[in-house]
Amino acid sequence: MKKIPPFQLEPKALNDEAKSLPGFKWADDEVGSRHKLGGEPDFIQGEDIPVCEDCGEQMSFYGQLDSINDDYCIADCGMIYTFLCFDCNTVKSIIQSN
Ligand SMILES: [Zn+2]
Repeated sequence: MKKIPPFQLEPKALNDEAKSLPGFKWADDEVGSRHKLGGEPDFIQGEDIPVCEDCGEQMSFYGQLDSINDDYCIADCGMIYTFLCFDCNTVKSIIQSN
């Protein structure tokens, strides 16, 4: 399994609607800023690294996308985790939340 070095992702609002979105009312401070590429997944509910449906090998962690705010909340302040098989070009995403 290929490992990608870690990058923090910082969202940049691209229009006035995005700039004006309110944040979270009750979520922990870190929620909304946990986007990243590569490194290790910051699993909320425990390790869950999928296996490629084509070759059966463990997939590489490609990145995680955080909830945006109370209007665009993934389950209960959760995140989407995306995994990739570099050999087969297959992708799998999962959600974990509080
Ligand atoms: Zn594969």
